[in-house]
Amino acid sequence: MIIKDIIREAGIIGAGGAGFPTYAKLAEGADTLLINGVECEPLLYTDYILMREQMPFILRGAHAVMAEYHISRALLCMKEHTVEALGLTDGQELDTQIFVKQLPNVYPIGDEISMIYEATRRIVRPGALPITVGVIVCNAETAYNIAHAVKHQTPVTEKWLMIGGAVDAPIVFRCPIGTSIRELFAFYNIIVPADHVVLDGGPSMGNIIPWQTEVVKKNTKALLILPKNIPAIVSKMTDVKVSVNRCASNCCQCTRCTDMCPRGLLGYPLEPHRMVRSVTTVAEVSPEMVRAATLCCGCGVCEIAACCQGISPKTIISEFKKILAKNGIRYSADEDVTPSPDRAYRMLPAERWKSLLGVSPYDKVAELAGRHFVPTGVAVPLNRHIGAPSIPCVAEGASVKKGDKIAEAAEGLSVPQHAPIDGRITLITNNKITIERV
Ligand code: SF4
Ligand code: SF4
Repeated sequence: MIIKDIIREAGIIGAGGAGFPTYAKLAEGADTLLINGVECEPLLYTDYILMREQMPFILRGAHAVMAEYHISRALLCMKEHTVEALGLTDGQELDTQIFVKQLPNVYPIGDEISMIYEATRRIVRPGALPITVGVIVCNAETAYNIAHAVKHQTPVTEKWLMIGGAVDAPIVFRCPIGTSIRELFAFYNIIVPADHVVLDGGPSMGNIIPWQTEVVKKNTKALLILPKNIPAIVSKMTDVKVSVNRCASNCCQCTRCTDMCPRGLLGYPLEPHRMVRSVTTVAEVSPEMVRAATLCCGCGVCEIAACCQGISPKTIISEFKKILAKNGIRYSADEDVTPSPDRAYRMLPAERWKSLLGVSPYDKVAELAGRHFVPTGVAVPLNRHIGAPSIPCVAEGASVKKGDKIAEAAEGLSVPQHAPIDGRITLITNNKITIERV
């Protein structure tokens, strides 16, 4: 079996972010593999701990991809403080042709397009894939999962993640996919106060989740407990209708949101101030402008850092994006773009970003948890990756061993799922398979 098939069969998706199936990123023609250990979101330390504890596996996974696709070098991208904390230096060769790449401590440097530019000085054309500039990107944990799949034929059944935010001591640990978050919190004595929420992901791009009923997914990097009254959470709790009304009444068209947009600073034709104006001035809406919404990475800089009128261009753009996605419309361009000469001065220092989000008091370096939770049951999601949902291939009542395949990949972009624990299948629905330990 070629590596691409092994990776697909192992059910590997991006271990952070949207959950894009990893096999679909792999193709001939790359000369550089970028391993993303940047963790550009504030408060996150999962990849830092993973790199500290499991570096040989990460390097092994990188080598497997490099060998298969004849990639001459890999760069393990990290921010300055992570390089220092791991006792490494910029440019250090960690293993044959795998080097440390230190990136500036700015937000959102972990965004794929920004990271590629910072690490290689290549710009992915708007709407194109990284492979078009000879780059494949994978998260550090994804490389770790690839090593296990290639060397040990082990599918993804566990997840590395952290619990942080308003807790005494943030922890990083791993647990079976499908573990109940409520049970996890009970095990680690985590209390969620009534005036707090739980985020799946970082404070900038993570989502508020119904933690009492949610489970750990393959792309859960962090569970953060944060108060409802800080800017990071207020913006997430603001109703879309309120955002639209604010656009209509408050926007002075100062263009600050466009001037600070990290994608715009790379030369992408993304102009949030025009998107905001489109709410009231429909006559100015052009198909090209709307399509450009797909180029937004959702970083939130336009909302939290740029706008002083309480407007969220990001929310308006994400509404455009939903409509475009529903209709399968993407942006594509044949021309190269060039970064703004002002980019270096307009990038947002990470400390400033943290403070604007209101999360500075919660930034404590996480440590590896001393004990690991062993759940009595799991509910494996079938539809939490990009692409078609996985199709169950077991029956209710069947006994399974950890690692057994329980759902096949669907046609097209999709991945299979595997049993995270030994047990008995107790329930199968369209979106999950429940297993109880026996
Ligand atoms: S920064 Fe705010 S006020 Fe200025 S153009 Fe953008 S949305 Fe309008
Ligand atoms: S969220 Fe705003 S600042 Fe970030 S990429 Fe999208 S438009 Fe630009």
